[in-house]
Amino acid sequence: MTAGIDITHIKQTEDALRESEEKYRNMVETANEGILMADKSGIITFANRKISEMLGYSIDELLGTDGLFLVDNESLEMQEKIKNRKEGIIESYETKFIRKDGSELWTLISGSPIYDHNGVHIGNLGMYTDITKRKEAEDEIEKTIDELKRSNQELERFAYVSSHDLQEPLRMVTLYSQLLERRYKDRLDDDANDFIEYIVENAKCMKSLIDDLLEYSRITSQAKEFENIDLEKVLEDVLSNLSIPLVENNVNITHDSLPTVFADRNQMMQVFQNLITNAIKFRGEESPKIDISAQKGEKEWIFAVKDNGIGISPEHQKQIFEVFKRLHTRDEYPGTGIGLSITQKIIERHVGRIWVESESGIGSTFYFTLPIKSN
Ligand code: ADP
Repeated sequence: MTAGIDITHIKQTEDALRESEEKYRNMVETANEGILMADKSGIITFANRKISEMLGYSIDELLGTDGLFLVDNESLEMQEKIKNRKEGIIESYETKFIRKDGSELWTLISGSPIYDHNGVHIGNLGMYTDITKRKEAEDEIEKTIDELKRSNQELERFAYVSSHDLQEPLRMVTLYSQLLERRYKDRLDDDANDFIEYIVENAKCMKSLIDDLLEYSRITSQAKEFENIDLEKVLEDVLSNLSIPLVENNVNITHDSLPTVFADRNQMMQVFQNLITNAIKFRGEESPKIDISAQKGEKEWIFAVKDNGIGISPEHQKQIFEVFKRLHTRDEYPGTGIGLSITQKIIERHVGRIWVESESGIGSTFYFTLPIKSN
């Protein structure tokens, strides 16, 4: 009687066990992730259908192997990971496998050690998610960035070479038209004299455009290495360079104490000089008031150069950073329209951003950022 009860009990336990095992087997077999189990020495003891599909090897071809034929040489790292597992470390990482047909399979692995009921490490479990598409997209982006960088460099080189080579013929045009003006001024009629004057004027204008283009292309091609520089000192030098326009325009200039940054000194001088010169040039009726501030953010410094000048209407606030883009004629305000493009390019070389906030007739604030980094 007692024995009969025991048998029924054992049978029930067996059924429950079988049911639970079936449930887990179903889960493992229908899982969207590949699953591999290996014993302590790294020999594969279990593989689900998904991992076999992902790798292109049958389950039988995987079982009993060390799986090293699935990874290439780069994956010595894999050995390291298996060692980590033995030490009970659970981790996720990306690994490249080679499928049976030779193609690459990138997976995100979540690996964990398996212990027996006494807590002894007996093997490892790996769950594999196919991330090949994401990796391919990342590679594509990287390639596009490289191509962009190359074509950018080519463009800069082109701008440099063409502006450099244009200098000489232009110098000749200017020289000979000036000579013409000097020698024949009295022998030519008024029209001819006006024409010569236009040629000289326009050749001069072209010269400043070419010089500016050359300067623009030199920002990266002939740049200096970064060093720790005290912007306080940089500003002091800039203000000393600009002492004449500052006095002539009765400029009231105030500033925060400025930090030390990791940057190209000459280029930082150029940034402050361009922004301050513009703040004076595009002044309003009142005497120019310029305030320079520096605010420390989490990862970057935010600098602001604020003026009380003529301001910039919202629709023009992006365009003004384009090469040779100006909102006024040369008669109204001198210049070529390259200053802000140069400033922007310098800031971008320093991995910063530049933008303007402005209101017509009230004033403008030019903001730029520089990373907080000591070397
Ligand atoms: P440029 O000063 O030679 O014209 P920039 O590239 O320095 O060239 O500036 C482009 C244009 O942006 C200027 O022509 C002007 O219209 C506008 N601008 C720049 N700075 C200011 C400012 N502080 N206030 C008002 N307008 C400005």
